[in-house]
Amino acid sequence: HAKDAGRNTYRMFDEAMNHQVQEALRLRSNFQRGLAGGEFVLHYQPLLDLQTRRVVGAEALVRWHDPERGMLSPGHFIPVAESSGMIVPLGAWVLREACRQAARWPVQGGQPLVVAVNISAIQFKRGNLEQTVADALSESGLAPDRLEIELTESTLLHQTDEVLATLQRLREFGVRLSIDDFGTGYSSLAYLKKLAVNKLKIDQSFVRDLTSDPEDSAIVRAIVDMAHSLNLVTIAEGVENTEVLAVLRSFGCDEGQGYYFARPMPEAEFRRYLEAAEGVPA
Ligand code: C2E
Ligand code: MG
Ligand code: MG
Ligand code: MG
Repeated sequence: HAKDAGRNTYRMFDEAMNHQVQEALRLRSNFQRGLAGGEFVLHYQPLLDLQTRRVVGAEALVRWHDPERGMLSPGHFIPVAESSGMIVPLGAWVLREACRQAARWPVQGGQPLVVAVNISAIQFKRGNLEQTVADALSESGLAPDRLEIELTESTLLHQTDEVLATLQRLREFGVRLSIDDFGTGYSSLAYLKKLAVNKLKIDQSFVRDLTSDPEDSAIVRAIVDMAHSLNLVTIAEGVENTEVLAVLRSFGCDEGQGYYFARPMPEAEFRRYLEAAEGVPA
């Protein structure tokens, strides 16, 4: 019977494997169909200067409008896109689309807006990122200093000389670099300075309970102070209420992003939001 059990286990394993392979193949073809068929869209969430309350830019956040499953958030498909390699063509599309749309945004308070784009580690390793960025900029005519690339600390942690060289050349183009979800990884600030990073995005997990958790508050204050001593701009993610905003302002945090200001929205809505914001005095 042991032999039968073994055979059964093997068959079950085989079926599970087969199912996984099928699922991966299905996803890959869905991705390709989705990219070709315009099923992906970018939503934009405003980034605000906390002193003036002016909009200074927006983060591009991808969504997948799957005809069968409806609107999917990136938490559902980015990990699969990364493990399947589909993040490379998807990420290239995101860069082109974000630059194309940002090129037509009106200035705010006399200042051109920045568009922030999330980049996965895989895009550095397999993506020919420099060329993709250069093409997105030249096709759109967007000034390089209006594009901000968001990297996570883990992308930098597993950096190779090649990744460093790519970052260096992006900085030479004039593109800005920002560290996303800052505080959740292990970056040394001195190292970030050496990479000529422009901005730290303080992870929302520290921002959410800022008014009630003294440790979170100490962490945020320390990040802002250290960043400023290195001439880095700070932005807080996940600002959800006016109390958190007041603490961030008292710490001297430069910028903020969160549901308190606005949720991510389709581009047409973002442009209406800009028109309305431009008319409101700070
Ligand atoms: P992220 O880059 O840290 O983006 C911020 C996420 O926090 C967004 O979720 C945004 O909607 C959400 N958020 C903003 N304000 C608040 C707030 O006040 N409260 C709360 N609870 N959440 C807030 P979203 O759009 O679901 O994106 C999740 C993640 O997916 C992003 O995290 C980013 O890591 C990834 N992602 C999104 N678009 C892209 C993309 O084009 N390429 C890559 N590689 N990753 C992307
Ligand atoms: Mg981000
Ligand atoms: Mg983030
Ligand atoms: Mg985050």
